Amino acid sequence: MPGCVDMLDSRQPLRVPGQLFADDTVGLAPSLDNLHAMFAHFSQWAEDHYMGFGVKKCGVMALGRHSDVVALREQADRWQLGGERVPVVSEYRYLGALINSDLSMRNIVGDRVNKSRRAVEALDSVLGGRDIPINVRTSVLKTCILPVLTYGCEVWGMDSTSGVNRLQTILNQCLRRLVGVGAKAPGVATAPLLRELGIAPIEAMAAAARTRAFLKAPTLNTCISDLVRQPSRMRPNTWTSGTVRWLDRFARASAELAQNVRVPPAWRSLQPRVASNLVKAAVWGRFETSSSACTNTWSIYSQASYVGNPLPQYGTGIPAGAVAGLHIMIQLRTRVFPTARRLARIHAMPERFLHHCPACGGDVIESIEHILLECPRWECHRRNFGALAPDFNGFVRRFATSPEDINALLLGGVPPSLHGATHFTGNGRFFQLWRQALPHIAFFVVHVSHSRNVLLREMGLGPSRISRMGRRPDG
Ligand SMILES: [Zn+2]
Repeated sequence: MPGCVDMLDSRQPLRVPGQLFADDTVGLAPSLDNLHAMFAHFSQWAEDHYMGFGVKKCGVMALGRHSDVVALREQADRWQLGGERVPVVSEYRYLGALINSDLSMRNIVGDRVNKSRRAVEALDSVLGGRDIPINVRTSVLKTCILPVLTYGCEVWGMDSTSGVNRLQTILNQCLRRLVGVGAKAPGVATAPLLRELGIAPIEAMAAAARTRAFLKAPTLNTCISDLVRQPSRMRPNTWTSGTVRWLDRFARASAELAQNVRVPPAWRSLQPRVASNLVKAAVWGRFETSSSACTNTWSIYSQASYVGNPLPQYGTGIPAGAVAGLHIMIQLRTRVFPTARRLARIHAMPERFLHHCPACGGDVIESIEHILLECPRWECHRRNFGALAPDFNGFVRRFATSPEDINALLLGGVPPSLHGATHFTGNGRFFQLWRQALPHIAFFVVHVSHSRNVLLREMGLGPSRISRMGRRPDG
């Protein structure tokens, strides 16, 4: 579109009168008369080239002042392309982002929320399908839902007022569905689930994407390069100034917040991809240490070093019957497994089970360690497991004594007491044995969990009761 390109492509660096992308055109006019001239120009160009416009899909919209919005509507007859009237709209979808008169980020993110909800609904049965290996379901989340959640986050990332937490809530629901926890079950920590499934929090992904876009911008061939190189002095709050402010502040603060991964103050000289990865890691780390709920669960998870050995990667390649066990192992690691104490805490079981094991009847807390390692009720399953994986069993008993440590080893982690113990992990012996024992461990937890469910159901404390988790009897 030679004539239109000339009109839109001003060489004055701080003026961007319009954008052309594929067969899309957007024009920006500072006044109504200027807008009218632009319409006339477009119409003339189309006539000269025997072209037409899909006017029904076009829209004319005022940005900012209310008086402009009114004037635009009052003069609706003036806005015509090829003799057809272009509708005056209050919001318009451009390149997939829903833009309104205020250029509100909340509006763009709100639109993302609606689109993401529909995507999650459409894939709900896949996300929750227990017969599908968890790595396959995690891939579905990463490839089909995450792009919808984060689309355009280069624009709204780093802005905590944009409503990004609403997108995080949708992601959290997906995580719960993947690991098989009720949507409303309380006391579920997000941080371990994100690490286990290898998915960063939305705010981390968005800040990383915006960092990368900002550092790449000066090298691009479009007007974004000018806008980033020569930031406006007239407007204090632009995408450029906001990104610089955020990165400066974050680079200073992150040294304390994320001790291992800090963004150096000289972030401007980093490669876009490197800076983006650092920002992602640092925001992710901050999310984990600052997430107000359930920091205890996170500290148990991180101390056991499960992070270095995420379970979903073993989803395929183990016997079909062990797939369910892998699923339960993830619940045990991330502490979302419904132990009696957890259920009693949320009033889904009588209060006496806060300090009482329903399986063996002992005056002992039914913790994860009790179920897997101590409860006499499941001794037969334990003996079976010991017979099937004697090498692993012997190795673990030689190095670990406390139930917490044995539990961590059983679930593929390394407890703090064995961190850096080269005689233990140094030659890879432990992980070699653990990998061999994994199918047996998976079958062991399936058998214990199944027998426990049967028992609880017989006691009138079965899954029907558990599925109502979180609903208080008095509420
Ligand atoms: Zn017990």
